[in-house]
Amino acid sequence: MINYADPNKAVRQHAEMAEFFSGGLTPKVTPKNTKELAEIAEQTSQCRKCELGGQRTNAVPGEGSPTARIMFVGEAPGADEDVQARPFVGRAGQLLDKIIAGCGLKRENVFIANILKCRPPDNREPRPEEIVACIPYLQRQIELIKPEIIVALGAHAARTLLNTTKPIGQLRGLFQEYVPGIGQNPIKLMPTFHPAYLLRNYSEDNRRKVWEDMKKVLAELDLPIPSQANK
Ligand code: URA
Repeated sequence: MINYADPNKAVRQHAEMAEFFSGGLTPKVTPKNTKELAEIAEQTSQCRKCELGGQRTNAVPGEGSPTARIMFVGEAPGADEDVQARPFVGRAGQLLDKIIAGCGLKRENVFIANILKCRPPDNREPRPEEIVACIPYLQRQIELIKPEIIVALGAHAARTLLNTTKPIGQLRGLFQEYVPGIGQNPIKLMPTFHPAYLLRNYSEDNRRKVWEDMKKVLAELDLPIPSQANK
């Protein structure tokens, strides 16, 4: 896994990793995409485009494989992420790890990012002006990684990427299309519940819904569906 909090290390690690990357991953690694991803990480660490830049401990640019077939996009870093400069490392992150592992995937083979790169104070919701300032970083990451599927975790990610105000309950479970830009192919996007929502509403029904969503993602990618995800 590449930790983009240290861009130079990320580039070195990538060079080593690229040699033996295979196993279900499309070979689309180029030094350019890795270098640019590291540059984005560096830019986010200097960013002062909104007031969150002056309040963070660390920017959380996102991390994972530059060749990821699946990209998970959450809302914004929380307290743990702000300290560690890594996405989804707190309680919600542990649940996301379980979801990823339950799908037979490895965290280092997907890419995990957020709509916002900096933590909103007291974990308040992202403000529209913060999203407008920050979203170009994520858009460029998507453009560089070219995932086959984006899993939007929760309402903020889904609504922002789909440019809609529909409730997540209406969006989840159905493939949507993320349009990266004029002349670019749309990318399939699966909205699902945010792990933090799942933790707060840990019902069998909600857990089943997330598994149903993830099974659709695995099927779309022709990846095996592990038995626990069949339940
Ligand atoms: N919640 C998010 O949306 N993102 C994180 O990185 C952590 C918690």
